[in-house]
Amino acid sequence: MATVLEQSNTNTLELIPQAFEAQKDYFTTRGPSSFSERIQTLKKLESWIVNHKEQIREALFSDFKKPHLETDITEILPVLQEVKHVKKSLRKWMRPSRVPTPITMLGSKAEVIYEPKGVTLIIAPWNYPFQLLVGPLISALAAGNTAVLKPSEMTPATARLISNMAREVFDPQEVVVFEGAVEVSEALLALPFDHIFFTGSPAVGKIVMRAAAEHLTSVTLELGGKSPVVLDETTLVKDAAEKLMWGKYLNNGQTCIAPDYALVPEKMVEPLVTAMQDSLKKHLDPEGEGIKNTGNYARIVNDRHYQRLTGALQEAVAAGAKVVVGGETDDQENYLSPTVVVDAPEDISLLNDEIFGPILPIRTYKEIDDAIDYINKKPKPLALYYFGKENQRKRRLLSRTSSGGVVSNDVILHFAHAELPFGGVNNSGIGKAHGKWGFMAFSNEKGTLHQNRNFSMAKMTYPPYSNRLRKMMDTMMKYL
Ligand code: NAD
Repeated sequence: MATVLEQSNTNTLELIPQAFEAQKDYFTTRGPSSFSERIQTLKKLESWIVNHKEQIREALFSDFKKPHLETDITEILPVLQEVKHVKKSLRKWMRPSRVPTPITMLGSKAEVIYEPKGVTLIIAPWNYPFQLLVGPLISALAAGNTAVLKPSEMTPATARLISNMAREVFDPQEVVVFEGAVEVSEALLALPFDHIFFTGSPAVGKIVMRAAAEHLTSVTLELGGKSPVVLDETTLVKDAAEKLMWGKYLNNGQTCIAPDYALVPEKMVEPLVTAMQDSLKKHLDPEGEGIKNTGNYARIVNDRHYQRLTGALQEAVAAGAKVVVGGETDDQENYLSPTVVVDAPEDISLLNDEIFGPILPIRTYKEIDDAIDYINKKPKPLALYYFGKENQRKRRLLSRTSSGGVVSNDVILHFAHAELPFGGVNNSGIGKAHGKWGFMAFSNEKGTLHQNRNFSMAKMTYPPYSNRLRKMMDTMMKYL
């Protein structure tokens, strides 16, 4: 079987059910792996990553000219950090947790056992194509599962590298990769996996959830949406401009938690825009050679997304919006410079669809409740950002809006915090990832009660039902 499965790291659709069955057999026969087996597996993965840093950088550069150092910061470091955190904490997470005994359960003991779900499927997007596949894989392996991996077809060099990684590090009965596009996803989604971990758009998330419903497979959906930024009079403008621009040019704005639009008091727009221009000059074009030529700025992943983004910008300008920062394009390279837009009317794509690129529209507001209403009219975002130090206003903003995560006075960094759950809410996602939460997503929390032999409090309630039992029940219901 291993030879057949080794071939399955190609696009062969027919091998998908076979690979699934092989993992199922392996998982069922072996049973849950021990702590030391999981640590060994994670160490193998970790050392492959450490020894292939250059290949990872090259794959990402080939896919969308991602600068090597940006690959280190956003693809390699996060997964190495995740493995390290898991290795340190796994023994504690795996340990069954004892729970207190309520009076009605006297004589028994109870615990929660974290068992692996079994054969799992991980489907990844293209925007952080290495870490968004390897990160969930670390959680799946930590929780003792096997995994079938489906990288994105839009970043083929990274997909190929991930296939090689799986071949070199794992037995295919443990981890196997299927490269390809929608037809591969569809073939995989037809199978009764024990858990599906999907990262991608809300539209495809719905397709995944529908397919999972057929088998009542549990899902983690890491989706996207429009993540707002709220500034107020207490914002340090230069600091906010610098951080917001970073959130927009990192990975060319192709980040699920990139600031999508900014809500700003009217009188702050001008100084903010000036500070944004200064910040771009300082960080992306210090020598004045043009952002395009610096090698510090990735490209839009493909023509389709380039056309989508430049089309949205043209639509905005035609509808009366003003480009106040950037707006330079180069069709030959899928290059769009970091761009800021003001005065955009409400009914255009930039203010309704997830931007997922280096464009930031700024909208003005008067009272904080207007900003809250505006945010609440849209689906719940993946992240919400507040810049300022007005605690009451911040608390109001946080308590009156719902989002997957929140950062105040920065952007994106909650993703990198090992102790925080990461994920969305409703339209921006279901379930959480990273660290302990990733481990839990891939585990079944099995409530386990250990009763004594020849004893049970419940025996007192067995029929025949008597007046004595009636009195006892009345007392219990009164005092419990
Ligand atoms: P996508 O939904 O188009 O694709 C994601 C994966 O699903 C790919 O592997 C793709 O091959 C597969 N797929 C595409 N169409 C499918 C279909 N009809 N049936 C089954 N599978 C299908 O997303 P994308 O363009 O790769 O990524 C961008 C989206 O992902 C954005 O919305 C972004 O916000 C979101 N995202 C979310 C997170 C997060 O952690 N929450 C991280 C990164 C990206």
